[in-house]
Amino acid sequence: MVNSTDSININNGNKRKWQLNTFLKLLGLEQNILLDLLSSNNHSNDFTQKRSIYIRKRLWVMCIFFAISVPFFSIYDFYAFEYAQATTILISRLVLSASLLAMAYFIKKCCSALLIKKVVALSFFLPSLFYLASMMTFDSLNDVPFIFSMLPFLILAMVGLFPLTIRGSLILMAFIFCPFAIVQSLFYQGDVWSLFNNTWLFVLFAGISLWLQIAQLSMLMHLYRESTVDPLTKLINRRVLLRSIEHLKSEANKFSVIMFDLDRFKRINDTFGHIAGDKVLKEAASVLSNSVRSTDIVSRYGGEEFLIVLPHKSNAQALKLANEIATRLRETPIAVSKAQSLCVTSSIGVTEYRSGETTENIFKRVDELLYDAKEQGRDRVISDAA
Ligand code: GH3
Ligand code: MG
Ligand code: MG
Repeated sequence: MVNSTDSININNGNKRKWQLNTFLKLLGLEQNILLDLLSSNNHSNDFTQKRSIYIRKRLWVMCIFFAISVPFFSIYDFYAFEYAQATTILISRLVLSASLLAMAYFIKKCCSALLIKKVVALSFFLPSLFYLASMMTFDSLNDVPFIFSMLPFLILAMVGLFPLTIRGSLILMAFIFCPFAIVQSLFYQGDVWSLFNNTWLFVLFAGISLWLQIAQLSMLMHLYRESTVDPLTKLINRRVLLRSIEHLKSEANKFSVIMFDLDRFKRINDTFGHIAGDKVLKEAASVLSNSVRSTDIVSRYGGEEFLIVLPHKSNAQALKLANEIATRLRETPIAVSKAQSLCVTSSIGVTEYRSGETTENIFKRVDELLYDAKEQGRDRVISDAA
C-alpha cells in the first residue's frame, strides 16, 4: 500500500499515475478496464463479435418496433393538426418506417461488426432527422405538442439500451444532437432561459444514457471474462479457442498450431504440493504469452496443456518458435518454495492447418505429434512439416 510518505518520494509522473490509479480504484475500475470502456481498439476479435451479436439483436427489435409503431401515431396527427400538416408528417413517418424496416432486414443479413456500428449510427440518426422534418411543420415551439418535443430525449433514452463504448456513444449522441441543435436555433426567439433549459435536459438525458451504456458494457465485459478466461493462468479457455479457430478458418485460411504438455508435471505436484504446481502453470503461461505476437492466440487447453495458434504462420515458422519457447521454458527458473526453484521441460507438437479440415482434425493431429514427442523421451518438439 502507498502511504503519504511514499508519495512524497515518488517523482511527478509516478505521482500522477498513482493518483489516477487511486481515483480509478475508488470508482472500482482498473486502468485497462477504463481503456476498454473508452474505445473498442483493444477489444479482442471474439469479444467484438459477441458484443456485436448482442447489439444486433436489440437493434433489430428496436427497428421493427418503431417501424410498426411510428405510422400508427398518424392517427394523433390527423386528430390534432390541420390536414396538410398531418399529411406532411405522415410522409416523414412512412419514410422513417420504410428505412427502419430496410435496416432491420440489413441487420439480419449483415454479420460484420464494423458494418453494425454504422447501422447503429444510422438507426439513431434517421429518427433524429424525422424529428427535424416534423418540427419544420410547426411555426413556433409553443405549438409543438409534448409528444414531438420529447423525441430527442426518447431517442437518447433508447441509446441506453446498448452496450456501447464511451467513444461510440459520444459519436452517436453528436448525431442526435445536430438535428436537436438545428431545431433550437431555428425556433430561437431570444428566450435564453428556455434554450438553456432544453440544452440542460439534453445533457442530463445524454449523461444518464451514457451511464446505462457503460454499466451494460462493463457487465458484459465482466461476464465475458468470467466465461472465457482461465482464472489461474489468465489465458483464454478452450471454449473461446474453438470459436477463434473457426473464425480464423473463415478469414486467414493459413495458420499453424503448437500444442505443449509440461513433462512429469504430476511429480511437481506430488513433490512440492499443488500450490507450487499452480505457480509453475502460471509461470509457464506467462513465458508462452510473452513469446508471441499480440495477434497470436495462447490458450490453456487442459490441465498442464497449452495451445498456441499462429495466424498466417507456416509450419516451419511455428516449429522455430516452438523450439525457442521450449528453450525459454527449460531455462526459466521457477521458485516453488523459499529455498528451491526448478525449470520445466515440455513435449510439443506442431502442425499447420490444411484447408477445409475440421478443428477436431487439427487437434487430433497435433495431439498425436505431441504424443510422439512423449514417446521419444520428452523435452522435444515434433512437427509434421514436410
Ligand atoms: P507427462 O510427462 O506424461 O505429461 O506426465 P504428467 O505428469 O505431466 O502428466 P499426467 O497427465 O500424469 O499428470 C498431469 C497432472 O497435472 C495431474 C493433475 O493433477 C495436474 N493438474 C492438472 N491441472 C492442474 C492445476 O490446475 N493445478 C495443479 N497444481 N495441477 C494440475
Ligand atoms: Mg497432459
Ligand atoms: Mg504432462
